[in-house]
Amino acid sequence: MDILKNEYYNKLGVRRVINCASYLTMLGGSIMPREVLEAMDKASEWFVDMKELNKSAGEVIANFTGAESGLVTAGAASGLMLQTAACIAGSDPKKIDQLPDTEGLKNEFIIHRSHRTNYDHNYRNAGARLIEIGNTGGTHNWELESNINENTAGIIYVYGPKQNGSIEIEKVIEIAHNKNIPVIVDAAALLPPVENLQKFIKLGADMVAYSGGKGLRGPQSTGILCGRKNLIDAAYLNSAPNNEGIGRVSKVSKEEIIGLITALELFIDRDHSVIMQKWENDCEIIIEKIKNTVKDINIIFNKSPSDPNDINDEDSTHPSIIISSNHMTDDEIERKLSDGNPSIRVRNNFEVKGVKIYTSNLQANEADIVADKLLKILSI
Ligand SMILES: *Cc1c(COP(=O)(O)O)cnc(C)c1O
Repeated sequence: MDILKNEYYNKLGVRRVINCASYLTMLGGSIMPREVLEAMDKASEWFVDMKELNKSAGEVIANFTGAESGLVTAGAASGLMLQTAACIAGSDPKKIDQLPDTEGLKNEFIIHRSHRTNYDHNYRNAGARLIEIGNTGGTHNWELESNINENTAGIIYVYGPKQNGSIEIEKVIEIAHNKNIPVIVDAAALLPPVENLQKFIKLGADMVAYSGGKGLRGPQSTGILCGRKNLIDAAYLNSAPNNEGIGRVSKVSKEEIIGLITALELFIDRDHSVIMQKWENDCEIIIEKIKNTVKDINIIFNKSPSDPNDINDEDSTHPSIIISSNHMTDDEIERKLSDGNPSIRVRNNFEVKGVKIYTSNLQANEADIVADKLLKILSI
């Protein structure tokens, strides 16, 4: 089979990418299982009442997450915006109409400095004012407590790539709830493991957002929001298909909703230890090929924790290899892998030297292609 043959992409002159960079929106998220595509295909044959569909899909999400209520969102990013809107405007039609103008409304959200990412924008879209606490060295409980005031609408808790210096979520929830302030969580990239679907709700988080198009392998443009009924009701009123709120810009189609629910059901049933083993095997295929053949390279193999409880940042959800060369800069390795067709994409510019290779998105035989290309470029 010619791996470069695909009439739709070929026609547009678009190259094939071998994705060693994990679930990146920039590279198309993840690959949906066949069953998801078939479900979407079937879903496209009917019209439905979108309110009815949203409600039923929300019940499935509630069931799987253990939350009171759920909602399919347009990516986790839209989930973050809707969490914020729900905290600021609630279900009050006048306030929903007013956003993102927050004059006269509570709009302060407290966030750890180490939780700030390029997704901050999604909170600000709804009119949030971010109040930073702490630093990467640590954060004191008093910093959180003393910043809560009559303008505080919520506390943001983000599971991004760098978690240094934040107060533990249990303590954040305790402090916030003592003052009747909701805690909203961004756990976009924390699936798998399956346990993380319920973890934060169990800990008492008020709303949690996940990506549908990363480890869940649903449509790339979907996400999950789950949490307390009054807040999810409010998020929904701020969102499409309703026309009155800021979320109208981030609609989810009937096909996408059915695709996400199907992906979620498959995800729950999947044996993730088998999949993790395959990812690790693919790492080993790559390492074996280059470790004794190529001189002057350094290889670090990061396995994933065997205990799901230890998976609490984006990087620990799947294994990776870090490769560096004594003769070539990381940028050169990255560029040489990316040149040509297929274009192999890795992560670069992490805090350590070396390019990082994730195997979680590799398709059949792609580990061999990556290994061969590495052998070729690093041997020179
Ligand atoms: C990927 C990601 C998002 C955005 O998720 P989408 O589903 O692509 O909208 C938000 N926050 C974090 C930490 C992420 O990793």
